[in-house]
Amino acid sequence: MNILIVEDDRLQATNLKILLSRHIKGTISTIHSGSQVAQACKENEIDLMFCDINLPGVNGVDLLSTLPEENRPKGVVVLSAMNQDVVDITYSMCLSAGYYFARGLAKPISSEQLQQVLTDFDKQTKQTKTGYINEPLSKDDIERAFTNGWFVNHYQPQYKVSTNELIGVEALVRCQHPDRGLLSPASFLSVLNQENQQDRLFWVVLENALKDMTLLKGDLQLSINMNQKSLKVPMSERFFELCNVYQFAPEYITLELTEDEVYDSGVTSLANLANLRLKGVGLAIDDFGTGYSSLSQLAVLPFTELKIDQQFIGNALLNFKSQQLTISSLQLAKSLGLRSVAEGVEDEDTLAYLRQIGVDLYQGYVASKPVPIEELKALLQ
Ligand code: C2E
Ligand code: MG
Ligand code: MG
Repeated sequence: MNILIVEDDRLQATNLKILLSRHIKGTISTIHSGSQVAQACKENEIDLMFCDINLPGVNGVDLLSTLPEENRPKGVVVLSAMNQDVVDITYSMCLSAGYYFARGLAKPISSEQLQQVLTDFDKQTKQTKTGYINEPLSKDDIERAFTNGWFVNHYQPQYKVSTNELIGVEALVRCQHPDRGLLSPASFLSVLNQENQQDRLFWVVLENALKDMTLLKGDLQLSINMNQKSLKVPMSERFFELCNVYQFAPEYITLELTEDEVYDSGVTSLANLANLRLKGVGLAIDDFGTGYSSLSQLAVLPFTELKIDQQFIGNALLNFKSQQLTISSLQLAKSLGLRSVAEGVEDEDTLAYLRQIGVDLYQGYVASKPVPIEELKALLQ
């Protein structure tokens, strides 16, 4: 592993180097001025760069945003003794500049923080090598996936926060590609959206889910992700017919809409939603707080559930703003009479916190990753 430390304070640079050498094997070089970074990255392929933001001459922010793409380190850790806000915004800038791994840390850095960063970096590098996060599927492959039935669902259990009782699942689509293995939505959703195939996917996922649910005993609730495009044509009859074929009660289904596009108030969409709600189908606003016009959507569409985005939940114990956004989203859900769901709960401490503030449901790696139907069945027994 090739590490580069960019830090003008020589004492801090040495301390970091000593700390790093306890955790990794490899080369650790240090430079003290921003103007030497481009050259250093050109000469050696850097895996991970630790970069102070506040450098004399070229500062860290300008440096990271202008470094030529072909010479960039694989990952970057932004360091600052300044306000956490500055670290956070620089971290976001790195992600949007296309660094595939980025972290922001306020100085001084502890040994535990460093260990965590190195573990995360290692994990991400491995994922990329195994191709889980990789090239998007081609248009042709998307078509083949539909015609050959490569789309399958995994199911992530949802639990009551207060009792830890498993009460439902969210269906999450995967593509079982014959050469590339199991692909996550990140590999195919954007191409699929460009090709305007969202609606076709919705019906495939719904039917697969209803079919899978017949293999389970008991009355699990089922959440399905849906793009607003699927509401633009009359669809409620077809929806109820399908529920009828698989003998699944519509009132056990919740449709999740993400707020990533401006909401559509066309007559057909509203009529579909009215018909679905009449038969008890739930409607969730997914990834709440991350898209456009969330509040105006809440005002018009008949939501029954609010899913607090994992970005806030994941940082609720680490970052003051994320914590406040979690609390505000929860209060909003409560005041509107919506069921609240926390997404992406990864550890027991976060779960305990959600219990303390009174979130209704949660899903996340702390309890279970999304699993194939056979595993879900085993989990329920
Ligand atoms: P989403 O609906 O917000 O789903 C939650 C995502 O968070 C899932 O990613 C899930 O695997 C992941 N997740 C769950 N627990 C944790 C956790 O503890 N930590 C972390 N880091 N992640 C966790 P996935 O399956 O890759 O899906 C990504 C997105 O793709 C979904 O976000 C949803 O917007 C979209 N998607 C998935 N299935 C479908 C589908 O059938 N139709 C449509 N239109 N979109 C779908
Ligand atoms: Mg969802
Ligand atoms: Mg979500």
